[in-house]
Amino acid sequence: MTTWPAYAVVPAAGAGQRMATHVPKQYLVLAGRTVLEHTLACLAAEARIARIVVAVGADDEHFESVRARLPDKVERVTGGTERCHSVLAGLHALARTAPAQAWVLVHDAARPCLRGSDLARLLDELAADAVGGILGNPVRDTLKRCAANGAVAATVDRAALWHALTPQMFRLGALIAAIESALAAGVIVTDEAQAIERLGHTPRVIAGHGDNLKITHPDDLALAELILAAQGRATGGTACE
Ligand code: C5P
Repeated sequence: MTTWPAYAVVPAAGAGQRMATHVPKQYLVLAGRTVLEHTLACLAAEARIARIVVAVGADDEHFESVRARLPDKVERVTGGTERCHSVLAGLHALARTAPAQAWVLVHDAARPCLRGSDLARLLDELAADAVGGILGNPVRDTLKRCAANGAVAATVDRAALWHALTPQMFRLGALIAAIESALAAGVIVTDEAQAIERLGHTPRVIAGHGDNLKITHPDDLALAELILAAQGRATGGTACE
């Protein structure tokens, strides 16, 4: 079975409405570089990843202005209405030349703090797996199910609950089939594992670090900047460990 090279798809076509900024969150500047540059630098530093397809919005006005600063193995495609459409566009671009058995890693553009060591462990742990899997992080807070007015309806047992992070790593052909099957059934999957699970397969969760946060709300920016600085990835820093 094909193992390496692996490929990557980076969905970056979101409008980031919860950020309430004019510039989409993947182009906000953090520690001297855009969020997208940080994200792509980490993926590109992994030698087992041969090509990285970035799915950007059809009306994206920013990608070309950062393109010269992106790694050589980055390519652009046009994304879609929902994250899963953007991912599918990237997968189809890869499938024109990459084999169906190749591993593909899907990683949110909005997660610039991914550690190179977590990425490497995901590849190491899943290399011989039949299905693939995802980076995850155990839930640590007590969870409440609430009514719309904020009233607590129940306390949810957090044992065995994990946050699903990215990258998510599956076989290219199987992932295309799984997302297309979900779309045909009218299901908008919010991660790749959900599409794979729908077909009865069992992805594995590989423990990653909780600092692989997804920039979602304005408050996340300051935190991401602190994390990048602590990782030595502020301006001038290239480490991605
Ligand atoms: O909106 P959310 O934070 O869940 O988006 C996760 C990732 O999916 C982001 O990197 C965003 O740019 C991307 N996305 C996309 N196409 C969409 C919506 C989101 O590529 N239509």
